[in-house]
Amino acid sequence: MHCLYSCPMSMTDGAAFILAPKLKALPLAHPFHETFKRLISDKDDHWTSGQWMTERAGGSDVQNTETWATYAPVESASSKALADGDYLINGFKFFSSATDADVALLLAKTPSGKLSTFLAPLRKTVVGDDGMPREVSNGVRIHRLKNKLGTKELPTAELELKDMRAHLVGELDQGVMTIAPLLNITRIHTFVGSLGGWRRAISITKSFAKARTTVGEPLWLIPMHLRLLADLEVKHRGSMNLAFFTIAVMGVVENDVSSEQAHLPRRGQEANIVFRALTATAKAVISKMAVAGIQECQESMGGVGYMDEADEPEFNISRILRSTLVNSIWEGTTNVLASELIRFLLKKDHFEVFAAWLSRTLALIQTSDLRDALTTAWSALQGRFSTKDQAPATIVADARRYMFTLAWILMGGLLAVDAERDSDPVTTEIVHRWILNGEGGVGDMVFRDIVPVRANDSVTAGGEEHLQWDCKIAWGVELPVNRASGHRSLQNAGSKL
Ligand SMILES: Cc1cc2nc3c(=O)[nH]c(=O)nc-3n(C[C@H](O)[C@H](O)[C@H](O)COP(=O)(O)OP(=O)(O)OC[C@H]3O[C@@H](n4cnc5c(N)ncnc54)[C@H](O)[C@@H]3O)c2cc1C
Repeated sequence: MHCLYSCPMSMTDGAAFILAPKLKALPLAHPFHETFKRLISDKDDHWTSGQWMTERAGGSDVQNTETWATYAPVESASSKALADGDYLINGFKFFSSATDADVALLLAKTPSGKLSTFLAPLRKTVVGDDGMPREVSNGVRIHRLKNKLGTKELPTAELELKDMRAHLVGELDQGVMTIAPLLNITRIHTFVGSLGGWRRAISITKSFAKARTTVGEPLWLIPMHLRLLADLEVKHRGSMNLAFFTIAVMGVVENDVSSEQAHLPRRGQEANIVFRALTATAKAVISKMAVAGIQECQESMGGVGYMDEADEPEFNISRILRSTLVNSIWEGTTNVLASELIRFLLKKDHFEVFAAWLSRTLALIQTSDLRDALTTAWSALQGRFSTKDQAPATIVADARRYMFTLAWILMGGLLAVDAERDSDPVTTEIVHRWILNGEGGVGDMVFRDIVPVRANDSVTAGGEEHLQWDCKIAWGVELPVNRASGHRSLQNAGSKL
């Protein structure tokens, strides 16, 4: 379903998602039917799609689009082929990934000055003077390929569009509304890619720790290293729970079905609102956490982690790090997503609907200290959303804190529900660390009075028992008897530092 980084797969998935609901209203001869078939094909005839929104004047603010669409239908065409779209597109797209795609969904302004969504093939077939058919560009000229820090396997280019023939998708002048659902899909691919890169980095660094000795001891058993690996696992587990829960919510939205799982939102409006809020939150927060996590994995391998060996891609954390970095930028930067989330929640009755679902979900947690800690945090955050004493712009200024705090609550709640489902001891320990010990977590960008360093003073982090759990979390085994200490001066019991 997904590839490691946002790529043709995610944009293709998104393009198919946009076309699917439009097909019913179109005659069977319409080229969108064939396009859709190709986009979802798993055979050799499959097509990929690009998504061209960003321009020089702005990526976050697409209203600045300077690409124009002119209505100029092909007179002679009796039945419309994909290359015979009714519009001619002229403009310049500044960041266009998957330049080798078969089709692209793009935004352009019509003479009304409003944005519409179009679909165009990148190439078309023409008959030459010699009567022979040949493939030519559909008005697309590659101005230059971008020189990027990462995702080098994926060509990203600046494209000049000159009389590119395209079909209108959806309603005229409703471009943002038409293309918006695609972003939910590409954002999901983005955070799954971040999680995948992060997990691979954890696996590489764990393999290294198993093979490496330092101060005469195995690195994987040195207590501080063990704690670091356990902390990475805790953070990754929290992220996994939010990620795959969001995907489960997508299942409710796409299939319009009810679920037997009590914490999934109800089909219809509730599921739609929760899905939109969760996709933005998961994309922004997990992408940031993954970068910090992968950097930690790199450092955990010492100098070897910093190497960039092209012929050993499967061990190359540097490559994973630089390719994951972009996940915080494309498909909406962290700021843009945080702003979007808050403005979305403050619209109409969205916050009430979202809050009702989250409160209901937290109430499902059986263990009282876990439930109490999370509901206290959620009540405090709910209070901050009030527009009684503050203008929405004031809330948006702090949108990152709202979003990361919400993510901490969501991940904690989902971890708790998961742990209670089968009482798995390691998951239960992870939940305690997350909610009560102030371990793991989503980083610094939270309201510190809501996400305390430690919620419950009676819980002690550290000590022998903690070390034993570190080992179970990181390695899934009991701490061996012949443990390590981390320094030569500590190897003889009782010796001074
Ligand atoms: C490798 C790569 C591939 C890409 N591929 C594609 C592609 O295939 N198709 C495509 O359409 N785009 C693509 N992009 C573009 C990408 O989506 C944009 O770069 C991104 O959306 C940010 O837009 P921008 O570059 O115009 O930055 P700007 O919008 O200028 O943002 C600059 C800074 O301002 C902040 N900011 C912007 N608006 C606000 C706001 N309202 N409130 C607070 N802060 C704000 C941002 O967070 C950012 O930190 C790609 C980018 C990269 C790096």
